[in-house]
Amino acid sequence: MRLVLLGPPGAGKGTHAQVLSKDLNAVHVSTGDMLRESLRAATPLGLKAKTYMEKGELVPDEVVIAMVAERLSKPDAAKGFILDGFPRTADQAKSLDKTLEALKMPLDSVLYFKTSLEVIVARLSGRRVCSKCGKTFHIRNFRPKVEGICDACGSALVQRPDDREETIKNRLEVYEKQTAPLIEYYQKQNNLEEVPGDLEVDPLQAFLKDLFIQKGTAKR
Ligand code: AMP
Repeated sequence: MRLVLLGPPGAGKGTHAQVLSKDLNAVHVSTGDMLRESLRAATPLGLKAKTYMEKGELVPDEVVIAMVAERLSKPDAAKGFILDGFPRTADQAKSLDKTLEALKMPLDSVLYFKTSLEVIVARLSGRRVCSKCGKTFHIRNFRPKVEGICDACGSALVQRPDDREETIKNRLEVYEKQTAPLIEYYQKQNNLEEVPGDLEVDPLQAFLKDLFIQKGTAKR
């Protein structure tokens, strides 16, 4: 299964991509995670991305486009992938079309997580991420077993610098201006499937599972 998860920051793309990637046996490709990893490792790419990410701006297209093209051409992506946080601009979407055409791996679907502003702000401000493995939690909706500690690897949970209130506003403006137009782009390609992003984790997970069972691609 080859999917794009589209929607504003805080829509739940990352959380559901993690689950879907297991259920559908597809690799989870999150550009945000890849960039944060480069930042942690202080690679030239990470250092270039840092200033943009801190301000909630988009990292330049050429940087992310090359990063995703390289990732999708690795052998494991041939079994299927879930793109989370990419594409985010019209140029990224066009280049993705070209990359997938060249790899003969067309998209099956674009899931648009339609989410209200109120829910987005509540989710982003309460989100906590593992400082080591990047797994995502929420102080109210998706709590770790032990407060402040990652269930998966036992490391400390932290707030992402760009989840602070002053940066959230900018990220949402950037989304409206640069990413929201992709809804129409994929609608025109007849590829868009709307999902109710306001739902809590469990009901939305059940909704997605049903959707893919209908498509005949997930286990019950
Ligand atoms: P995310 O984890 O998807 O919310 O991404 C965190 C930050 O990484 C964004 O605010 C951008 O600065 C950067 N980023 C992630 N994906 C992209 C992308 N496709 N294009 C440009 N910048 C990106």
